[in-house]
Amino acid sequence: MDKIDYQAILERISEEIKPFCGKGKIADYIPVLAKVPANQFAMAITTVTGEEYVIGDSEVEFSIQSISKVFTLTLAMKKLGDDIWKRVNLEPSGTSFNSLVQLEYENGIPRNPFINAGAIVVSDAIYDGRGKTKNQIIRFVRDLSGNNSLYFDEEVAESERKFGHRNRAMANLTKSFGNLNNMADEVLDIYYHQCAIGMNVLDLSRSFLYLANEGVNSRTNERVISGRQTKRINSLMLTSGLYDAVGDFAYWVGLPGKSGVGGGIVAVVPSVLSVAVWSPELNESGNSLVGVKALELFTTYAQNSIF
Ligand code: GLN
Repeated sequence: MDKIDYQAILERISEEIKPFCGKGKIADYIPVLAKVPANQFAMAITTVTGEEYVIGDSEVEFSIQSISKVFTLTLAMKKLGDDIWKRVNLEPSGTSFNSLVQLEYENGIPRNPFINAGAIVVSDAIYDGRGKTKNQIIRFVRDLSGNNSLYFDEEVAESERKFGHRNRAMANLTKSFGNLNNMADEVLDIYYHQCAIGMNVLDLSRSFLYLANEGVNSRTNERVISGRQTKRINSLMLTSGLYDAVGDFAYWVGLPGKSGVGGGIVAVVPSVLSVAVWSPELNESGNSLVGVKALELFTTYAQNSIF
């Protein structure tokens, strides 16, 4: 088979997404995020054999938001194995990522680890004091990406705290059902900080490479998690990684992926590569509008999908 020219594919995508720019809306429920200039696009590919390709505003750091839920889930699975599933379910939510109604109906057991309530329970499961847990998270993400200067954007974390009324409600509701071991504000501090990590697209695609490589960080050869756990995280991303638009994403893109309201999306082609895209304007489901389109074009042109 001919070698795929990923750089040519990225160039073609960056032209073809142009008509979709300006059609979405930047997340403004976290006020600091609303300040990000809209018309930006970047994409990066990291292959398991060590090749890298970038295009667009690839130096610009953005808030990874919900994408961080994959990192904390990985830490929770390392710590607890399958016991984490006593506290969080494995089903798509079919509702928005910050729905309270479903959590009430289902007795404080979140549908999956990638909706906000699920991620808050996961943060509770790895909680070991504010400072220690935040340290553990940022060190983990730095190791995965190979970028030691990654940081928590305190301005974003503070904006999330100040306007996080729904998240506070969710954490307290979960606590009232006995599914939060620590105080809500302590756990939320972890959650807001993990969401407020800033990265560029290349950091992001590098940091997800272990999920394309059976749990091993192929740049350092270090095992992050087992092959079995890698399969499970990828399955969860496929069924719950894009909130209630997960069916659309599976249909049009055909890869396990995870999005965040900062406009980032990262997806994995098992055994081949990870691909990250960023464009801050969102569609109605809270996923990057241009990002989804770019990944659809990517799997079409590279003929790389899991199906
Ligand atoms: N920090 C955001 C929130 O809690 C994360 C949501 C997201 O990216 N979907 O609402």
